[in-house]
Amino acid sequence: HFTNAALLARRHAAVARGVGQTHEIFVQKARNAELWDVEGRRYIDFAGGIAVLNTGHLHPGVIAAVKAQLDRYTHTCFQVVAYEPYVEVAERLNALAPGDFAKKTLLLTTGAEAVENAVKIARAHTRRPAVIAFTGGYHGRTNFTLGLTGKVVPYKTGFGPFPAEVYHAQFPNALHGVSVAQALQSVELLFKNDVEPERVAAFIIEPVQGEGGFYVAPVEFINGLKALADRYGILLIADEVQTGAGRTGTWFACEQWPVAPDLITTAKSLAGGFPLAGVVGRAEVMDAPAPGGLGGTYAGSPVACAAALAVFEAFEQEQLLARSRAMGALLVTRLKALAEKQPSIGDVRGLGAMVAIELFEGGDVHRPDAALAKKVVAEAARRGLILLSCGTYGNVIRILVPLTASDELLEEGLAILADTLAALA
Ligand code: PMP
Repeated sequence: HFTNAALLARRHAAVARGVGQTHEIFVQKARNAELWDVEGRRYIDFAGGIAVLNTGHLHPGVIAAVKAQLDRYTHTCFQVVAYEPYVEVAERLNALAPGDFAKKTLLLTTGAEAVENAVKIARAHTRRPAVIAFTGGYHGRTNFTLGLTGKVVPYKTGFGPFPAEVYHAQFPNALHGVSVAQALQSVELLFKNDVEPERVAAFIIEPVQGEGGFYVAPVEFINGLKALADRYGILLIADEVQTGAGRTGTWFACEQWPVAPDLITTAKSLAGGFPLAGVVGRAEVMDAPAPGGLGGTYAGSPVACAAALAVFEAFEQEQLLARSRAMGALLVTRLKALAEKQPSIGDVRGLGAMVAIELFEGGDVHRPDAALAKKVVAEAARRGLILLSCGTYGNVIRILVPLTASDELLEEGLAILADTLAALA
């Protein structure tokens, strides 16, 4: 019989300290939007394993599909002996991705791998070296994706040197004083001061910054970026690792853009709790790397593909895209009402069910309150609600609750958040 404290002691002795841990809790079991720790305490899960559980813990359809797959085969390596579920996931993603052009897909295992491969493909197609990413962006923990990531502490600290030919322009953020015009100007400044546009293979941008703080990229900015991309033959990559798989009310957030990106990265909720990632995009771009240039031993694992096909099924059967929009509307309404009572909440925002509140000392947007965010996360957990913070300033509380959670459970979680803020005010 284990306690959280005993397991934590073993963890600290055995696991590298660089691996963070938000909550001093060890899970015993989990169902849909609830989990129980090893001491039997129940929690409502508003974190969803960092955007992985849009269909909830142990979705019955996903688990049944995985169990059935386990009786057929678990691994051949797609590049050695192929299997149908990989092809079907690719067909489904090609059909879901926006854009009036032929598409192809590459499957991988993690979000960082998807981003790395999107850049490889963009370079192979354009025969250009440079990539422009944005301040506050997060793209992963491998060396290239760390290079793309626009936040030093804690991700990049001590891990350089980072790859050459990565440049950062400003992400538009009205709340923190960066207008769309300024952000577009910062791209033009890169062209003037650092890299000629003819050397740039791609822009990579999150439709809603995830780790960076749930800031939504304004549509006018995307239009401006696309105009620059078209003028100079630069590709547009949407990193949808966190925004994808229905979180924002459409399968891909970029479906809400007036223009289609050339490449999209996806991972996290794609396979309902199993490791699967992909790059979906313009067929002729995706086909730029020669045969043998792409792949991975575990890339597109049949077990994860079976899970993903069950996720697509669940979205249709349970109308989870409509649910994502309705849930987002409910969350925003409740959180705006809470903001009326809690001056520390300086902003409530989101796209679909990708919703966050941002905390400030006395509601002053010049004084981000990371300490309060930290206290809220810890106190809410004591009261039975698992939350995650994020943001350039560490002062954002984000909600990534399963779309399969009931309104009743949502209200229960929101009430804990309200009580927590009231207790800490
Ligand atoms: N891109 C984005 C937008 C992400 O949010 C993340 C993960 N938080 C990644 C890439 C990296 O994904 P992974 O952790 O699966 O490598």
